[in-house]
Amino acid sequence: MISDLKILRQHGIQYVRDLEKAELTPLFRGRPEISEDITPGEAGMVAGLCPTGAISVQPVSIDLGKCVFCKECQFALPSKIRFTNDYHIATNVRERLIIAKGVETPVSLDPEAVRKEIRGFFKHALKLRQVSAGGDNSAEMELNAAGNVNFDMGRYGIEFVASPRHADGIVITGPVSANMADALQITYDAIPSPKIIILAGTDAISGGLFAGSPALSRTFIDSHHVDLYVPGNPPHPLTFINGVLEMIRGR
Ligand code: SF4
Repeated sequence: MISDLKILRQHGIQYVRDLEKAELTPLFRGRPEISEDITPGEAGMVAGLCPTGAISVQPVSIDLGKCVFCKECQFALPSKIRFTNDYHIATNVRERLIIAKGVETPVSLDPEAVRKEIRGFFKHALKLRQVSAGGDNSAEMELNAAGNVNFDMGRYGIEFVASPRHADGIVITGPVSANMADALQITYDAIPSPKIIILAGTDAISGGLFAGSPALSRTFIDSHHVDLYVPGNPPHPLTFINGVLEMIRGR
C-alpha cells in the first residue's frame, strides 16, 4: 500500500484536469484570424499558395473544412494571417467552419441544430464506432489519444466500441476512398437510430488534399446529415472531445 502510494506520487497527475480550459502551446495550429485590412491582392497571393483551395478572396475567408493547417498562408503574410492555439473549432454547421476576415470569436455549435434525441439520450454516455475510410492513421491516432490516460474522454462516458451494433454513432476519418464506400455504408446501416455522424479531420470533411480525386466516393457524406464537424489535420483530441461534449450536453 505504502509503495503503491509512493509510485502514485512519483507519477504525479497525468490526466488533463480541465479539458475545456486546457492551454495548448502557442505553436498549435488552431482557429485562424485574418486581419480586417487584408487587401484583395494579398488574399489572392495567399489563395494561390493554398494547397486545398481553403482561402477565398471574395469575401476573404479560410474554410477550416478544407484547410490542412500547413500555415503556408501565415508564413507568407504573417502581418495579416495568424493561427491561434484555440482548439475549440468543432461545429455542427458546415458554414461556421468558414472564418471570415476580422472575425476573432471562437467556433461553436448551433444548439438549435442539434437533434433533440442526441441530448435526450446521450448526455451521460455515448458509444462510437470509428471507420477509417481511406485515412492515413493520423486522425485515427489522435482519436485513440482522446481515450488515453491524459485526455481520458471515458470520464464523460464517451468511448469507442468494437461493434457498430453497440454504437450510438459513427466517427469517420479519411477522405472516403471508393474501396471503403461499401464498408462505410454497411457499418452505418448496422448502427441503431438515431445514428450520429461525426466527421473527424479535414480529409473526412472535404476530401482535403484528395478532394476531386476519382479514387474517392463521397456519396455517403454528401447524402447524409452530419451531426458534428471536427476540423484539423489531424484533429486534436481536445477539439474532438470538446466538440462531442458540446453536442451531447451544450456549453
Ligand atoms: S494553413 Fe490552411 S488556409 Fe493556409 S495555406 Fe495551408 S491549407 Fe491553406
